[in-house]
Amino acid sequence: MSSKIFNSIWIVAITVFLASLLFIMCFSYSYFTHLQKSQLKNETELAAQGAELSGEAFFNTLPAEDYRITWIAADGSVLYDNEADKAMMENHLEREEVKQAIEEGYGESARYSSSLAIKQLYAAKSLSDGTVVRLSIAQMAIWTLFIGFAQPICIVILIALALSFFIASKVSKAIVKPINAIDPDHPEDYYDREEYKEVEPLLRRISSQQAEIKRDREQIEKTALIRQEFTANVSHELKTPLHAISGYAELLENGMVKSEDVKPFLGKIRSEAMRITKLVEDIIDLTKLDNGNDEEKLDCELYRIAENAVDSLEVAASAQNINLEIEGSDVHVKGIPQMLYSIIYNICDNAIKYNKMGGSVNVSITEKNNNAVIVVKDTGIGIPEDSLGHIFERFYRVDKSRSKEVGGTGLGLSIVKHAVKLHGGQIEVNSKLGEGTEFTVVLPKA
Ligand code: ADP
Repeated sequence: MSSKIFNSIWIVAITVFLASLLFIMCFSYSYFTHLQKSQLKNETELAAQGAELSGEAFFNTLPAEDYRITWIAADGSVLYDNEADKAMMENHLEREEVKQAIEEGYGESARYSSSLAIKQLYAAKSLSDGTVVRLSIAQMAIWTLFIGFAQPICIVILIALALSFFIASKVSKAIVKPINAIDPDHPEDYYDREEYKEVEPLLRRISSQQAEIKRDREQIEKTALIRQEFTANVSHELKTPLHAISGYAELLENGMVKSEDVKPFLGKIRSEAMRITKLVEDIIDLTKLDNGNDEEKLDCELYRIAENAVDSLEVAASAQNINLEIEGSDVHVKGIPQMLYSIIYNICDNAIKYNKMGGSVNVSITEKNNNAVIVVKDTGIGIPEDSLGHIFERFYRVDKSRSKEVGGTGLGLSIVKHAVKLHGGQIEVNSKLGEGTEFTVVLPKA
C-alpha cells in the first residue's frame, strides 16, 4: 500500500511539474515574440530617422546587424538592401508591410520566407520623400527557446525529481504509519483523533465486524456448551435403564430368580428397554429440529391430527380412569403433519401422565384472529410457579422420580417448543398446583 501511495504522489507531482513547465515555456515564448516585435518597431523608427537625415549614407555607416534592412523607392524598386543584391530584387510595392507603411506611415507583417522554413517579422516606415525603410528579423522558434533554456530546465527537472521522490516517500510513510499502528481489537480508541479522521468509516466497520465476530464466537461457544451438556445428560439417562437391564439379566442368568418371579423380571427388562427406545426416539426428533427440519410444509387439517393423537392415548387415559375429550372444528394450518401430531400428542400425554386418578383432559381446536388455537386443559397435579419457566428445557422435570415412573424422558416439552417455533407459533402455559394445567398453542392459519 505504501508503494502504491508513493507512486501516486510521485506521478501527480511530476505531472503537475511538467504541465507547469510547459505552461511557463509557452508563456515565455509569447512574451519574447512580443518583445522582439516591439524592438523591431523601435529599430525601424530609428533607421527611418537616420535615412531621413542622411539618405543611403546612413545605411553604409551601420555595422553588420541582426536585422535585414531594405530601402524601397516610392515605385517599389529596391534602393538598398544589406543582405541581397538590390538589382536582383523584385518590386516590393505589393508587400503587405510596405503597402501599409505607404498608406498609414507605418506597417508590419509576419510570414514565412520563400526559401527557409523560418517565420520572418517585418516592420516598415515611410519617409517624407515617399520612400520606405523596412527592417526584418527571423522570429524566434519555440525550439530555439527550449534549446536556449535546456541547461537550466534539465537542472530544474533533476531537482524536481529528487524533491518529489523525497516528499512522496515522506508523505506515503506518514499516511501508512498511523494505519499500521491501529489495534484491530480496539478500533474505537482512534475515533475523533485528528490523524484518523479520514479512516474513521473504516474503523467503524472494523468495530462492527469485531462485535459481530464476538457475538458469533459467543454463540458458537454457547451452542458447544449446550451440546456438551446434552450429550452428558443423554449418556446419564441411558446408563440407568441399561444398568437395570443388565442387572435383571444377570440375576436371571445365574438362576437367582424364583420361577414365579421370572415373568415380572422380564416385564421390568421390557419396560426399561421401552424407556431407552422412547429416549432415542425423542433425541432423534430433537436433533432433526435442531438441524432445521427442511420437510415440506403441507396444508393440514388440525382437528383430524388432534383426533388421531387423542385416539392413540385413549388406552393410557382409561388405564387411569381419565376422561379424555376433544372438541372444536376444522382449522387448516400449513405445517409438517408429523410435527403437529407430536405437539398435540406430547402435551396430551403429559396431561394424562401428570393427572389424578379419575381426572379429565380436555382438548379443543378452535380458530381465533386468523390463527389456529389448540388448548389442552387437565385437572392434574399442576406445576409449581417457580418451575413454569423451566419446563421447556431439555431434561427438566419437576419431580424426577414421578417422571421416570410414568415413562417420561424430560424431552417432550422441548420438542413441543421447538416444533411450535418451526411453525411460526407461540406456546403458553397456565397452571395451579394441585388443580390442573392449561397449555395454549397458537399457530398461524394456512
Ligand atoms: P417428561 O418426559 O418428564 O414428561 P416433558 O418435557 O414433557 O418431560 O415435561 C417436563 C416436566 O414438566 C415434566 O417432568 C413434569 O414435571 C412437568 N409437566 C409437564 N406437563 C405437565 C402437566 N400437564 N401437569 C403437570 N406437570 C407437567
